[in-house]
Amino acid sequence: MVSFFWGELLFHPAAICVDLNTCGHGCCYCYANARRTTRRTNLNAVRRLCSGEMGGITGQIWRMGYPVTLCNNTDPLSENNAREAIAIVRMINREGRPLYIMTKGGRRKDEDELLRLLADNGHAMLYVSISAATDEIAAKTEPGAVPISARLDLLRRAHEMGIGTEVGFNPFYPGWWPGKTHSEMQDRLLGMGLRTWFYNKLHLSRFQAYDPRCTAVLTADEIKGIQARNAYDDVFCGAILNALNKGADVYEMGLPSGRTNYFENIRKALGKAMPATGEFIVAAIRKWKAQADVWEERKPMEYHYEDFERVILDGREDLLDLEGRYAEFFLLRDIAAFAMPRVKRIRTFREFLKEAWNNPRIKCFSPRANVAFGVREKLDANGDAVLYIDGERHEGKEV
Ligand code: SF4
Repeated sequence: MVSFFWGELLFHPAAICVDLNTCGHGCCYCYANARRTTRRTNLNAVRRLCSGEMGGITGQIWRMGYPVTLCNNTDPLSENNAREAIAIVRMINREGRPLYIMTKGGRRKDEDELLRLLADNGHAMLYVSISAATDEIAAKTEPGAVPISARLDLLRRAHEMGIGTEVGFNPFYPGWWPGKTHSEMQDRLLGMGLRTWFYNKLHLSRFQAYDPRCTAVLTADEIKGIQARNAYDDVFCGAILNALNKGADVYEMGLPSGRTNYFENIRKALGKAMPATGEFIVAAIRKWKAQADVWEERKPMEYHYEDFERVILDGREDLLDLEGRYAEFFLLRDIAAFAMPRVKRIRTFREFLKEAWNNPRIKCFSPRANVAFGVREKLDANGDAVLYIDGERHEGKEV
């Protein structure tokens, strides 16, 4: 399947997502394998994409030169995927399109071939998930994936070959980072020159919590703790603050910061990237902090739809013409909003952005859910909602 990749970032920077076969890594927390036990690579869909024949938003953003992700629902270097994944990377390279690879690594020969192709691509980024402190812990939690030490080696080789790299502390669960191991890992990565990091808490749906792979590794109490509201916020936020203080470019949606070049790094590596609402969050906080009196006195600062559009489109005005049936993409998570007749009629990217800004029922629009932002009841002269950083509610937290 080739699909459109979106989530809390609104659009993923590399929003054309190519799926492959079911992943064999067997991670205990895997939402993708738990929700769909079989997947098959659809080479015909990839061929249609590469030949420019694909329709819909996905086909349009391909023709506009936006990057491709392999994969969000499976690992391209999983043994049952590597051959096809490498063939697909070759096809995408031939078309000169940027590539974003998400993996936990694989066999050495597959890794080497992939790295060679990513270096040839020239606009590639390799995202590797580092989810535990040691090989021993990962052998239990991700039994089919390569050890953590081998993933670090993969990142090192990619970096030395000039390929953009991103480390995913995804999922992050304190139980898999005993003692000072997480802080030590942060130092080690910075020492290797790897500074673009993404943090995401381990979360388990009710469905996942009953999966035997999960119950074999986590106790009932641990699962309950993970599912609790604000679970281990203190450790999680502490790890991110530590990372920011050490100079890493970190992004995490619940702990906003103006001190990160996370999105700039991705854009630089890929050459071209879809806009993400996180870029607006970072830009808004930077602007707030840059005004000394406003920042010192924690005065609120207002943001209007025009501010959002300016940041989001920055150099990507070609997207304004992007037509599509947005309701279909965003239907699953935000069904309440997209059942509204007005929303169903949305056809252009600008109409979609405006609706996301104004409609509180669209949950994937992260500024509204972000701890730094509030929403005023009032509308501005254009009839659009006013978002603001209130400066009050988040004492002690990074903004
Ligand atoms: S590597 Fe990703 S897709 Fe594969 S089992 Fe683990 S979490 Fe699931």
